[in-house]
Amino acid sequence: MRKYKYQIPRRLLQISILFIFFGGNAYGWNVLRGNLSSAKVLDAIPLSDPFAVLQSYSAGASIATDALVGALIILLFYAVLGGRVFCGWVCPVNMVTDLACKIRTSFNLDTIWKSWDIQRGVRFWVIGLSVVLSAILGVAAFEWISPIGALHRGIIYGFGFGWAFVLIVFLFDLFAVKNGFCGHLCPLGGFYSIVGRFGFLRIGYDKAKCTSCMKCIEICPEEQVLSIVNQHSGAVLSGECINCGRCIEVCDDNAVKFSSIYLNKYSNNK
Ligand code: SF4
Ligand code: SF4
Repeated sequence: MRKYKYQIPRRLLQISILFIFFGGNAYGWNVLRGNLSSAKVLDAIPLSDPFAVLQSYSAGASIATDALVGALIILLFYAVLGGRVFCGWVCPVNMVTDLACKIRTSFNLDTIWKSWDIQRGVRFWVIGLSVVLSAILGVAAFEWISPIGALHRGIIYGFGFGWAFVLIVFLFDLFAVKNGFCGHLCPLGGFYSIVGRFGFLRIGYDKAKCTSCMKCIEICPEEQVLSIVNQHSGAVLSGECINCGRCIEVCDDNAVKFSSIYLNKYSNNK
């Protein structure tokens, strides 16, 4: 079970959130109503996707106080906890891309043909492009084609043509680039990596316990964040870590665990 120590709770949380949203629409539950872009808890506390609000603002829309407060709540939450906790624990697309990665790895597709060469930094250009296009087109550009919104709304309200965006992401990750969408292109993931740059929750690495098997790097969807492995003990400082805990699950030496730079347990000592 150690292998799924975090994977099971992650999936449960991702599915539960979808289910609660679904119940809000289908049965009128008022726990969490709306969608991932704009929702209300108990019909009182607003929650908004800050990146969607930023695009709407750029598109020239007047931002309602509720949306602004909702965006600030979410920004603060992920800034304190760690931005890409959203990716690993909340976003439904993570289940799709993890599945594509699992199949890709199981069938050794990387050995059959060469993965496309895309830099991970492209997602930050996509953030800028989304904001600029929003201003030019007068609509929140990424929200229009977002597989996250398409999948989320599809499950809650029923699928229209939005399933096509989700299928494209799945096929892209399966055949073109390993961890392609979330690890290279998604502007929301990029946005949260900036927001959570100084977040509390970190992965800590203890070089003294490490036997250099490199399983953590093999399994990590953002392997560049584990550059300290085999170098020195310390905390993963990159905001690109999605806090999925896969590195902890596969480490037989207990050399990796959840930690925080603010607890001083893993100051980046040599
Ligand atoms: S990178 Fe984007 S699609 Fe992937 S889990 Fe994060 S927000 Fe969702
Ligand atoms: S470092 Fe660990 S927690 Fe962070 S993305 Fe990689 S596998 Fe997940």
